[in-house]
Amino acid sequence: MSKDFHDQGPRRVGQVKEVTSLANPIIKDIKALTNKKSREESGTFLAEGLKLVIDAIELGWTIRTLVYAKAAKGKPLVEQMAARTVASGGLVLEVSEKVIASITRRDNPQMVVGIFEQRWMPLRDIRPRDGETWVALDRVRDPGNLGTIIRTADAAGASGIILVGETTDPFSLETVRATMGSVFAVPVARAAPEEFIAWRKSAGVSVVATHLAGAVDYRTIDYRKKPVVLLMGNEQSGLPDQLAGQADALARIPQQGRADSLNLAVATAVMLFEARRHLLSLAEGK
Ligand code: SAM
Repeated sequence: MSKDFHDQGPRRVGQVKEVTSLANPIIKDIKALTNKKSREESGTFLAEGLKLVIDAIELGWTIRTLVYAKAAKGKPLVEQMAARTVASGGLVLEVSEKVIASITRRDNPQMVVGIFEQRWMPLRDIRPRDGETWVALDRVRDPGNLGTIIRTADAAGASGIILVGETTDPFSLETVRATMGSVFAVPVARAAPEEFIAWRKSAGVSVVATHLAGAVDYRTIDYRKKPVVLLMGNEQSGLPDQLAGQADALARIPQQGRADSLNLAVATAVMLFEARRHLLSLAEGK
């Protein structure tokens, strides 16, 4: 990683640089953020589009670098975000369209890209209260599924996501795209299966696990008694016994037709809107 990319502590005075070369080391570092290893090492990730960058900054996420295409120069909102990035000690890069297209690997790239610090919620800090719903995902593999679930959890008013076991990265470009900005609004925690099991024992929650062998119709469960954790299984193999055995209820969504199961993100959406049905109304919502 280049020195500039790392030397971005909060006290550093912000800078604006013009970059046109794909060989520029800062651009190389930014492009490397499409790899999980580089994201982990730097603790950062990419978010594309002016709207996402504005939302993230408004929600208090730390921006390390703002990249915008020359064509976006002078637009008031872009200038505002550039000023806020510089004021918080970040770096602003004005780049050619070729450079921004190579960062996001798109032919029609967004004109603005932000590099933000990752945020993980420590599991021990999750103390669900009445009316809260959390989603725990066992080994979710597909970035599109995870992004869709984060977006849906946001829309349903869930409190956050717990990633259990080895999962896809919530900060990958594909997942962030699929969240449509909700990655900045929904806390995400991660835990090994044993940590999740230990946490659930003291968290005072009702764990509703979804299982194709579940005996309980998901519509007959009382979701009001305690805070609820909806536990969803891996796309290929479903929930392992180790986790299913921790559930207060094994719920099933009745199906007809030839499909063996629902897509994970669809099943999570069905469960979320049922579990929070008593809390959602058109009068109070959007
Ligand atoms: N072959 C896997 C199995 O046997 O469980 C299918 C997994 S399914 C694609 C992914 C996850 O979505 C499941 O583990 C479960 O959490 C949820 N799911 C899908 N359809 C469901 C249904 N009809 N009832 C309850 N959960 C369901």
